[in-house]
Amino acid sequence: MKVLQQFYEIFEENNYKVTEQRKLLFEAFLENREKHMTVEEVHGYIIKKDPGIGIATVYRSIQLLYELKILQKLILDDGTRRYELNISEGNSIHYHLICRECGEIIESYELRDDLLESMKKIFDEDYGFLVSGQQINFFGLCEKCRDIK
Ligand SMILES: [Zn+2]
Ligand SMILES: [Zn+2]
Repeated sequence: MKVLQQFYEIFEENNYKVTEQRKLLFEAFLENREKHMTVEEVHGYIIKKDPGIGIATVYRSIQLLYELKILQKLILDDGTRRYELNISEGNSIHYHLICRECGEIIESYELRDDLLESMKKIFDEDYGFLVSGQQINFFGLCEKCRDIK
């Protein structure tokens, strides 16, 4: 299913209206798929299309999209909150390789399904815990910063 369609369905299921601004916000994330944006960055992107939109509105709409699980949040070492889409057409499970020095976030889709499946199995068997989602972050040094050190 197309992500835009998923977006509309989630809103409908939760009895929320898709306003023009909410749609713009969603599109901002769609058009910046590889990025993990802060509220300020999203705002900077959206005002190019709708100069009248304030940062408070962007902030509130991001909160709503996060509550509806359309977005997922990444909290970095320095406390920065970054957001990215949580819905996709195919497999969206990926690792984040986060550089502690420059803050770069590398996305890796090279996730071995069998590895994840065996972890889920352990959680289920040992803790009776049923996994419905995951966020996998690794912290370290990127190639550039590693060379300097
Ligand atoms: Zn770095
Ligand atoms: Zn990501």
